[in-house]
Amino acid sequence: MIEFRNIHKAFGENKVLKGINCTIPTGSVTVIVGPSGSGKTTLLRSVNFLERADSGEIILDDIHLDVEKATKADIHKIRQRTAMVFQMYNLFKNKTALENIMEGLAIVRKVPKAAAKEKALYFLEKVGLGHKADAYPHELSGGQQQRIGIARALALNPDVILFDEPTSALDPELVGEVLEVMKKVAQEVNCTLVVVTHEIVFAREVADHVIFMDGGVIVEQGPPQEILNNPKEDRTKQFLSRYI
Ligand code: ATP
Repeated sequence: MIEFRNIHKAFGENKVLKGINCTIPTGSVTVIVGPSGSGKTTLLRSVNFLERADSGEIILDDIHLDVEKATKADIHKIRQRTAMVFQMYNLFKNKTALENIMEGLAIVRKVPKAAAKEKALYFLEKVGLGHKADAYPHELSGGQQQRIGIARALALNPDVILFDEPTSALDPELVGEVLEVMKKVAQEVNCTLVVVTHEIVFAREVADHVIFMDGGVIVEQGPPQEILNNPKEDRTKQFLSRYI
């Protein structure tokens, strides 16, 4: 379970998160949607302290942190339990697909090399890229690079995977393959997935829980049938009308 309690964050005068309260259930696929600039990515990055909120509490199962007081050791604990998939993949350009996945295992999780290699190969197969183990990022399409990013996150065996707009840097024809892999992950892996995305169809098909944000607040949240098919709030209706 991830819980946000009264999370606030400003960049200078720009108040980006204005008191976020919500609980993301363990094992759920939670999708965060909302207009550009509504604070979705900032909220996601506040979980693992890539963005440190100004005030409030972040709870991840038994780790309970007041964000103002969290120490380096507290943040390390949270990062040991979470993995992130980035919009721009963030792969090491001078390492192969296999090495990119092994790197996190060796450095973050201190897994010995042989075991890391075995694990990395297993997860490369999972995302359908076993045959690309020795390819460098520049030899792969954006969609393939993102699938490596997903394999890298999975290999860490986290409790939570945070997806930060994983398809928004891709050419439209490559979006589908990444969403397919994410769908498979959602079905097969029992960690909690939190996905910031503009892919409403994906949210409708795969999410258990949808959070709609606008202007730094959660406007409404609930199951996808409710929020995406039958929203109560005008702001949600207006946002969704762009996707029809
Ligand atoms: P999008 O869908 O366009 O990615 P978003 O809902 O994820 O938007 P955020 O990326 O969280 O929104 O950004 C919210 C606001 O915070 C924006 O006004 C953005 O310019 C600002 N912002 C985000 N990160 C920073 C930063 N590191 N420094 C200054 N301002 C920032």
